[in-house]
Amino acid sequence: MRVLVTGAAGFIAHHVSARLLARGDDVIGVDNLDPSGDVALKQARLARLGTLPGAAGFTFRPVDVTDGSSLRTLFEQTRPEAVVHLAARVGVRAPAGTAQAYVDANVSGFLQVLEQASAARVRHLVYASSSSVYGAGSVPPFQEGAAADHPLSVYAATKRADELLAHAYSHLHGLPTSGLRFFTVYGPWGRPDMAPLRFLRALRDGAELALHDEGRMQRDFTHVEDVAEAVVRVVDRPPQGAPACRVLNVGRGEPVSVRDFLAVLERRLGVPARVRSAPAQPGEMEATWADPSALERETGFRPRISLEEGLAGLVEWFLQQAGA
Ligand code: NAD
Repeated sequence: MRVLVTGAAGFIAHHVSARLLARGDDVIGVDNLDPSGDVALKQARLARLGTLPGAAGFTFRPVDVTDGSSLRTLFEQTRPEAVVHLAARVGVRAPAGTAQAYVDANVSGFLQVLEQASAARVRHLVYASSSSVYGAGSVPPFQEGAAADHPLSVYAATKRADELLAHAYSHLHGLPTSGLRFFTVYGPWGRPDMAPLRFLRALRDGAELALHDEGRMQRDFTHVEDVAEAVVRVVDRPPQGAPACRVLNVGRGEPVSVRDFLAVLERRLGVPARVRSAPAQPGEMEATWADPSALERETGFRPRISLEEGLAGLVEWFLQQAGA
């Protein structure tokens, strides 16, 4: 299959692309190397894709998804059969003054992807939503059928807007769409701005780390290899019916507190954290907890890598990088 993957220099798309290439798919990777993230890391991920099994099937196109005319040309030239849209401005803790950038990348950019995917009549558009859409007042474990209309951050609001736009395009244009609500994804080649790698850096350097709300927040940490497997299985199974449209949780269904998560890392590295208490963040949910049963019903798969196993691999990778 020929799959267009947006955000290909990013964390999750890197693992999804690797998995698609390994099974013999052609991947057209798209990314604008957004400088709000770590550009050197994005380039390193792209370079690594060129060394993995199936690498000959990978081509990279430096396109900004908000640029409709470049995106149209790309679709016309490459004729993808499926699209995995993972490009986004990420993070619930948006710095002041960045709301427009979130809406541009996540809503306007997604609209362009919907337009081109509909025009190209792709078999399936799979796109990243987020557990943050559950917002305030959702009852755990979160189920897809529950209302999700009290977002706590601009980021969460853009992701919910994407789900609504996808529904409209599925209805109007018969475009099969699947929105995946990812729950706190971690693993090798991860995002330096997220807690796992922030904590690991602080532990390695003996630096102080800020623990918000005493680490009471609960997160349904989900390993990126499980996430990549879920994405590929969903790609292969477009939704049926009219409109051909669905959202699915991609989470393990076993939340742990951030404090306990940190304790596992302390144990693995054999050093205690130097913790500074910090207030709870207004854009953060107190807890996230996926009900993964719809994903399992639709794909026969549910995330299964335990936190102990996943963090063992992450720490090994981190120490290798640090020593390299
Ligand atoms: P990431 O930042 O590593 O990857 C996103 C990529 O998109 C980056 O490489 C960036 O350069 C690219 N990008 C941004 N704006 C773009 C644009 N206008 N045009 C082209 N490329 C653009 O993030 P990630 O953690 O891999 O997240 C992937 C997707 O999953 C995102 O949509 C994110 O919102 C969603 N998500 C992630 C998590 C998580 O825990 N990592 C949780 C929920 C949802």
